This record gives sequence, C-alpha cells and structure tokens, in this order.
Amino acid sequence: ERFEASLAALDDEVPPANRTQNRLSPPLPRAPEAFRNEPDTDPALVANRVWAHAILERTAQSTLGERTAAAARVDDDAQLAGLLRDTAEAGRHWGRVAPHARAELLERAAEVLSVFRGRLIEVMAAETGKTLAEADVEVSEAVDFAVHYAAAARELPAIRDATFAPVPFVLVVPPWNFPVSIPAGGVLSALAAGSAVVLKPAPQARRSAAVLAEALWEAGVPRELLRLVDVDEDALGRRLVTSPEVGRVVLTGSYETAALFRSWRAELPLLAETSGKNAIVITPSADLDLAVKDLVASAFGNAGQKCSAASLAILVGSVGESERFRRQLADAVASLAVGYPQEASTVVGPLVEPPSGKLARGLTRLAEGESWLVKPRQLDGTDRLWSPGVRDGVAAGSDFHRTEFFGPVLGLMRAADLDEAIALQNAVDYGLTAGIQSLDADEVAHWVDTVQAGNLYVNRPITGAIVRRQPFGGWKRSSVGTSVKAGGPNTLLALGDWHPVPAAP
Ligand code: GLU
Repeated sequence: ERFEASLAALDDEVPPANRTQNRLSPPLPRAPEAFRNEPDTDPALVANRVWAHAILERTAQSTLGERTAAAARVDDDAQLAGLLRDTAEAGRHWGRVAPHARAELLERAAEVLSVFRGRLIEVMAAETGKTLAEADVEVSEAVDFAVHYAAAARELPAIRDATFAPVPFVLVVPPWNFPVSIPAGGVLSALAAGSAVVLKPAPQARRSAAVLAEALWEAGVPRELLRLVDVDEDALGRRLVTSPEVGRVVLTGSYETAALFRSWRAELPLLAETSGKNAIVITPSADLDLAVKDLVASAFGNAGQKCSAASLAILVGSVGESERFRRQLADAVASLAVGYPQEASTVVGPLVEPPSGKLARGLTRLAEGESWLVKPRQLDGTDRLWSPGVRDGVAAGSDFHRTEFFGPVLGLMRAADLDEAIALQNAVDYGLTAGIQSLDADEVAHWVDTVQAGNLYVNRPITGAIVRRQPFGGWKRSSVGTSVKAGGPNTLLALGDWHPVPAAP
C-alpha cells in the first residue's frame, strides 16, 4: 500500500504522454523474450514539452538528493569498517535468496525508476548541467538495466555444469558523466547476481547518486543491501577499494584511475570500463549527409564528455577533399545551441569542470600543421561553457590523435584508403567505440574484421549503446581487469565465483 501511495504521489514525475503506459499494477515478471527497451520521452508531444519545462524551471533551486548525499558521508575508519562488515553480512543473506525472487525486486525497481524519471532528470540537470534530452536517455537506460538484469538473474540457475556463488558485496565506483545510468547498471547487476552493494558516488555527482539510491530503496531494496558511501578519494577511499571484504570492484572511469586502484592492490577483483579515443571512418561511398549528422551527435552529445564520444573523424580519399563535406560539417557544428539546460533549446551543455590538463590542450593549443575548421570559444566567465570546436589536419601519432580529451572538440584526419584509415583508428592505446560511415558492404565487412574496439557502429552514431542490443565495453586500455560488457548476456557471470559441480557417481 505504501508503495502504491508513494507512486500516486509521484505521478507528476512521469511525462504526461507516458502516464497510461507507466500506470502501475503490481509488477509482473517479464519474460526475456518480451524484452522491450524503455522509450525515451517524446519531445514532439506538446504535453511532454510542458512537463519538461516545469522540470527545468525547478533545477535552478533544486535541493533533490541533498540530505541523502550528506547522510552518506563517511569520515573515519571505524565507521567505514562497521559499514563494510554489516554490508557483507546483508550480502551473505541476499546471496541465498532465490534468483527469481531477486529478479522480482529488480522488476519493481524498473517500475519505480520509470516513475522517478522527472526527479532524476531534475537532479542531473541541476548538479551536472546535463541537458534534458541527455538526462532522459539515462533514465531509460537505468530502467532497461533493471529489466535486463532481472532476466539475467532468472537465467543464472540454468547453467548446469557449474554453480554460481555470489560474492558478499560489490563496490560500485561510477563516473560523473553518466550520473544515473552507470551507477544504476553497476548496482542492479550486483543485486541481481546476489550481492550487496556499496555505491561510492562521483564527487561531482553525489546528489544524482543519492536520488538513484532513494528510488531503489523506495522500490524495496533494503538499505543494508544498498549503501551509499561517500568517502574522499584519499586514505579512506583507498581503504574502501582495498578492503578484503570487497568481492568485486565495478569501476567506470579513466584508465589512470583503474591503474591507481591496481597499484593499491595487484590482485584487486576489478571490472573496469575505462577511457576511449574513438574515431569514425568516412569513406567515399558514405551518405555524407548522414555522416555529418552522426559525427556531430557522436562528438558533441553531453559536450563530448563520454568515453564513447567521437574524438576523431578519419576522412578517406575524396572525402578529405570535399568542400561540401567541410562546409556542411562546419555549419552543423556552428549551429549547435550551446547553453545551460534551463534553456530548453540547449543541445551542448556546460562542462562539468573548467577544462584543464589534456582537455585544455585539445581546446586551445594548436600543434604545427593543424588549423581550426571551427574554433572553440569560451562563452561565459565561469570557463565551463565552450562552443564546440573542430580541428583540421590532425597528424598521425600526434597528441590529438592519441590522447583522450573528454570534451567538445573533434579532430579531422585524412587517409588515402580504408586500410590506412583502419590503421590510424587502431593506432591508439584504447579500443572502446569505433564507427564507419560507408554504403559499401565489402568495405564494412573488412572494417568489422580489422578494427580494434569493443563497440562497432555502422552508419549510426557511436554513442548511446542500447541495453541488450549493444552490450557496452572495450578492448585494450578501455578495459582493465575482467573484461565484461554492461547490459549484455555475460555481465552477471563475472560478478560471482564459479564452482564446478562434481560429476555424478
Ligand atoms: N554507454 C555510453 C554510450 O554508449 C557511454 C558510457 C561512458 O561514456 O562511459 O554512449
């Protein structure tokens, strides 16, 4: 009853056009074959736009998540040790709960997350400056993770030649660029696998993690099974990561962070999705109109702050000479509306932090032989708002070719033929996403066979992997530790230990 009442109170949080579809009855188990991805809010419907406008109005004064985030602070070693002990204890009980019962809790979580859509968008926009459209897809992805991992939990006992033993608890360390969907994926997969979870929020996205946790507690996830634990990334952070009780660490962050964790404890049971330096190859057979559109979406969505973002376009043969392509790209980039999310027309929002280090290099310093097709500009006094830039003449082996910038800047390279383009695409330390724009089936087949990246996209943007359809994860330095993709069939299998079943006598 409390569940129904709280859902009724939350009705305003659901986009009007989705309300009938989201009207809740007790959740029914969804069979895996009935899987459908949660739809995003349709901005073409006027009622949805009115709803969205009201959310954006609230972001200016939003206090969502503040209290929960403050309560999650842990400042001393004794407090942390007690918490870890209690979580491991709760996890041992949860691991004995039948997988189908765990799945039911996740299915309920899916329903509640979809009802929390408005709140989650509000807190993400308020806290990180995400645009409404970018925040909206995160909620859909979080719902998808819940339904998908519920189905995966139901499938666990079907594996007969070994038994799956959950670990007592999993530590989830998410990034700030997907402040809801990535922590949701980590938390929900661990719960489905039969573990308790400690969620350590990114410092730039504490409140978003807090509202996510509130949604999951509201859905009935016991508080001792999901703990929000906010520690500084110094001695206590290290103590948390290296605690012997931690059965798995699920990290999404930079390669450097994964390496740091490893340096703290060599045999850390780590599942890390890390950096990327991703390129889209455009061949002369491509539909150039589509290529420009997909390239711009891939490079500048979330102001380029995605591991999956396109940082390079590799123009093959005549594409590199095409004035029409250059003009179209320059026009498309220059016409992106840059601003804060409160302005509903904003497409490229602010950076989470003023550019420094690598990104500052990418945005401002020109190397020899490079020029700007579109020069990035700083748009206000805070140094967080940058109009996107496109740099031309990026040389093979240069800083721009090989370094992840994680911001709104795209580089153009040229290759004589497809093989040279693939060689450039592969000549980086990372291998997260890769794209090709080509209407030639032989070219595409050859590229698919040779390119080194976890997620390959053909004639489509290279960001926005869809749960279950495009399990997400990388190769090379884009993955550290056990390499398993999020939102795919194998995620849960890597979250526990496997014991062979003794042969029948
Ligand atoms: N899963 C996201 C995508 O496909 C990227 C996640 C990330 O940037 O870490 O765009």
